[in-house]
Amino acid sequence: MLPYGRQSISEADIEAVVAVLRSDWLTTGPLVAQFEQRVGELSGGHRAVSCTSGTAALHIAYAAAGVGPGDEVVCTPMTFVASASAASMLGATVVFADVDPATALLDPAAAAAAVTSRTRVVTAVDYAGQPAAYDELQPVADSVGARTLADAAHSVGGSAGDRPVGDLADLTTYSFFPTKNLTTGEGGAVVCKDAELAQHAHEFHFIGLVRDPSRFRIVGEGPWHQEVHEFGSNYRLTDIGCALGLSQLLRLETFKRRRAEIVARYDELLGGVQGLEPLGRREDVDPMWHLYPVRILDGRRGEVYEKLRAAGIGVQVNYMPVYWHPVYQDLGYRRGLCPNAEAFYEQELSLPLFPDLRDDDVARVAETLTQALA
Ligand SMILES: *Cc1c(COP(=O)(O)O)cnc(C)c1O
Repeated sequence: MLPYGRQSISEADIEAVVAVLRSDWLTTGPLVAQFEQRVGELSGGHRAVSCTSGTAALHIAYAAAGVGPGDEVVCTPMTFVASASAASMLGATVVFADVDPATALLDPAAAAAAVTSRTRVVTAVDYAGQPAAYDELQPVADSVGARTLADAAHSVGGSAGDRPVGDLADLTTYSFFPTKNLTTGEGGAVVCKDAELAQHAHEFHFIGLVRDPSRFRIVGEGPWHQEVHEFGSNYRLTDIGCALGLSQLLRLETFKRRRAEIVARYDELLGGVQGLEPLGRREDVDPMWHLYPVRILDGRRGEVYEKLRAAGIGVQVNYMPVYWHPVYQDLGYRRGLCPNAEAFYEQELSLPLFPDLRDDDVARVAETLTQALA
């Protein structure tokens, strides 16, 4: 089965990981600091905190923003469940706001209608790799004293105007899962523009330990002393993962170019095909393409999915609206809440897209899809 996404691992990646295994530090070592430094640099120069997954990154980001019971988080439903569930786990109420029907990105007008004085965070997802409209979302969040969060699990390395992903929202989260644009095995990171929030994020992912003597509430214990002011978890990424991440970062631009090349080929091969619509494109953004979504018209998505799978092509559907998950249904969320997201889901199909995908595979996918629709 041709997968819809997969990692690209070089000999240099393998050597980097093996070298850590021969070193003194498997975790909390120098490569963690180096990786965080590099991720911060590519994200507009803000502090990055590495962690064990994109889901952990979301949990950390919401915790750093102070999200808790009584707070609301406005979130797109066209995403992986963790964008919302990480806030729900902290006791917040998630308010889903609908997406733009063409791009599947959070619609700023819908977000504006959803914010209240209780809103703490407005979360958008850079669906498929296109940055969301943060220039419009930021004033919406600012108007109620909330923070913007970019779930950039799809878009590390992208940009909007002259600003990189990581600089577009108050908080940005990445996933380094193998199918994403850069991998550490499991892994993720949080980028915070506000230095105080970044320190809060760091402490939350480090069990809540405070190590700065100027902030100690217990004094006179001794040089070994560290103390906890707020509960946190252990979400630390290892030096093994960071070695892989640092090595992968050297090829991020190559990955981006190859992904863009494949997207251009799909665009060309599928351009005139009846029965499908390409994803709407934003102007003035330079995406890091993670997915190649198409909309299959006339109620044929299920049939086309089966045909491509039968032909050995690992297509995917991204995503069922988050509030359709039973955990949200049990909380009283009902279908019909975000009609654009629901209509998009009913038609969506993601085609294989990863750097090592060969041109003849791209051609075979396009041909099989064309035939399935004939
Ligand atoms: C993958 C993904 C996540 C979660 O990342 P993990 O590393 O798998 O935990 C969150 N949000 C979006 C949009 C994703 O695609």
